[in-house]
Amino acid sequence: MQIVRTVKELRAVQKDWHARGNVIGFVPTMGALHKGHLSLAKAAQAQSDKVIVSIFVNPTQFNDPKDLQAYPRTEQSDLEQLDPLGVDLVYLPSADEMYGQGFATKVSVEGLTDCLCGASRPGHFDGVATVVSKLFLQTGADKAFFGEKDFQQLQVIRRVVADLNIDIDVIGCPTMREHDGLAMSSRNMRLSDEGRRIALQLHQIMQQSAEAIKGGTPMEKAMSTAKSELADAGFGKVDYFEVRELENLELATNLDRPARLFAAVFLEDVRLIDNIQI
Ligand code: AMP
Repeated sequence: MQIVRTVKELRAVQKDWHARGNVIGFVPTMGALHKGHLSLAKAAQAQSDKVIVSIFVNPTQFNDPKDLQAYPRTEQSDLEQLDPLGVDLVYLPSADEMYGQGFATKVSVEGLTDCLCGASRPGHFDGVATVVSKLFLQTGADKAFFGEKDFQQLQVIRRVVADLNIDIDVIGCPTMREHDGLAMSSRNMRLSDEGRRIALQLHQIMQQSAEAIKGGTPMEKAMSTAKSELADAGFGKVDYFEVRELENLELATNLDRPARLFAAVFLEDVRLIDNIQI
C-alpha cells in the first residue's frame, strides 16, 4: 500500500495507472476509520482495478473550531485497517498541500444546501464541495464511493459532478450500523457509556416514526411525537427531524414521491446525524 502526501506524487501514480488501462476507485474520508468507511473501500475494491483512499480532516468544512479540534486523528490505526483490504494507495495531504498560499476558489451549491445540515452548519457544504472537487481532480478517479449516512452530502456531490462536468461516477453505499442500529460514526467515540446507551434510541425512534408515517399518521404529528420521545430519552437540542424528498431534498408533505427521514440531534456536545428510507 503506497502512502502519498503530495499532489505531484499522486498525479504521477494515477497517470501511470490510467496509461495501463486501470479503472481507479476513490474513497474520500476524514480518517478515524470504522467499518462504515471500510465498507466503502470494499465496494471500491469490488468495482475498480485500483483503489485510492484519502484521509484529510478538511478545516474548511468545520464551522465550529472546537469541533475541528476535537475531531479524532488516528492515522496509524487507519493505515493498519486499510492495508489488509488491498487498498493500493492512501493519500494523506497536509492542509498546506491542499490550500496553497493565496487559495481563493470556492465551489458552492445552491438550493440543496439551504436545508438540513446546510442550514445548521453555514459554509459546511462549500467546504465539502470544494475539497471533494479538488480531490476528484487530484486523484483523476473514475468512480467515487460515498456513504448514504451523509445523504445530503451525497446529493450535493452528485450536483457538483453534473454541473461541472466532472468525469466520475458517484456511487452511494448503504449506512453501516452497530448491532443495536446506531449509525457508525467517528463522532460516536466521543460519547460516554451512558451517552452511547441513549444514542441507540435515535435509530429506534426514527424507525417508529417512519412506520407511523407509512401507517397514515400525519407528518406533523409523527415529528412532534418523535421530538418529545428524543427529549425523554435524554437527547439535547434537535437540529432537525424531518421528512424530505429524495432527489431535491424539498420538505415532503406526503409520500407521493420517494422520501427519507433525516435527523440531527445533540448528545453530550456530539452532533449525531442519521437518515432512513421511508
Ligand atoms: P467522513 O470520514 O465522516 O467524512 O466520511 C467519509 C465517507 O464515509 C463519507 O462518504 C461518509 O458518508 C461515509 N460514512 C461515514 N459513516 C458511514 C457509515 N456508518 N456507513 C457508511 N458510510 C459511512
